[in-house]
Amino acid sequence: MTQPTTHIDIEKFPRVELCHRPTPLEPMPRLTKYLGGPRLFVKRDDCTGLAIGGNKTRKLEFLLGDAIEQNADTVITVGGVQSNHARQTAAAAAKLGLKCHLVLPRVVDWQSDDYESSGNVLLDRLFDAHVHVVDDTEKAREKVTELVAAADGSAYFIPSGGSTAIGSLGYVGAALEIAKQTEAMDLQVDHIVLATSTGGTQAGLLTGFAGSDAHPAVHGIAVYGDAETAMDEVQRLVVESADLLNTNVESASDRVVVLDGYLGKGYGWPTADMIEAVSLTARLEGLLLDPVYTGKAMAGLIDMVRKEKFKESENIVFLMTGGTPALFPYREALIRD
Ligand SMILES: *Cc1c(COP(=O)(O)O)cnc(C)c1O
Repeated sequence: MTQPTTHIDIEKFPRVELCHRPTPLEPMPRLTKYLGGPRLFVKRDDCTGLAIGGNKTRKLEFLLGDAIEQNADTVITVGGVQSNHARQTAAAAAKLGLKCHLVLPRVVDWQSDDYESSGNVLLDRLFDAHVHVVDDTEKAREKVTELVAAADGSAYFIPSGGSTAIGSLGYVGAALEIAKQTEAMDLQVDHIVLATSTGGTQAGLLTGFAGSDAHPAVHGIAVYGDAETAMDEVQRLVVESADLLNTNVESASDRVVVLDGYLGKGYGWPTADMIEAVSLTARLEGLLLDPVYTGKAMAGLIDMVRKEKFKESENIVFLMTGGTPALFPYREALIRD
């Protein structure tokens, strides 16, 4: 039975324009043929347009809209040293003329010369953000408190990954965009697969689909910690976004699925499956995944196809959430002689 459609209106929230939209939705014919399973598509949210793209751009449209509404002139956020969220925040702040502080704890147990200077960190510096690399999350908290106090009421703090109810509105919008796009293509999407870390992307999608005529199953692949913790976060954000939108999405909160099995030793730690997924997608589709998020999510998708978790007749969309700049600091893991 199809769910009754709930009306969802995101237009009433303050927003800044940062994102190229709609992002393309493209078939992946060579990867589909190679795996010999269901039809695979990719939603190109690496093409959101701002500073090499990625999923945080959609969230930042609403987060920074809110910041400006509150008369903030400084944005403060946190993330791993190679955080894509930090890089997109720095770029958006530069574009909007806001001051930006990035507090980056060394949470990834991956040491290389490139890790603290190349990729996203290089870009953070080009965008003229104040970069504060600290030893651990406790030190990060202290630094944030100090920076917020120093800004004397003019700072807007964005938590890790931009995953608040307001940030999730970006992916409520993305779900509505996918529903419209697939209707125009006459394509029924049965499953969406994506990397889940702080949960705002998956929560936004589930909330948005609850308010559309499309109801694909959404599979998050845990890339930060265990699936249970991620699932709790997604569930919390679904409830909070629904509250913010003043809508009832009980069905969405029941549909939260996050899968374990593709994280390896931990967040940001390379795995053999990730390396296979990154190379296959590059060789067969000319598409650049990343080592921390989309590479592991694609490893999950490939494994599910191989284990015949999908029907041959189904259509699967991989949400390409970005992360490309992180390929460079992981050079030594990706290319071995
Ligand atoms: C942040 C990020 C994600 C995860 O999104 P969440 O909303 O934190 O779950 C996935 N892919 C990339 C490339 C990211 O930077």
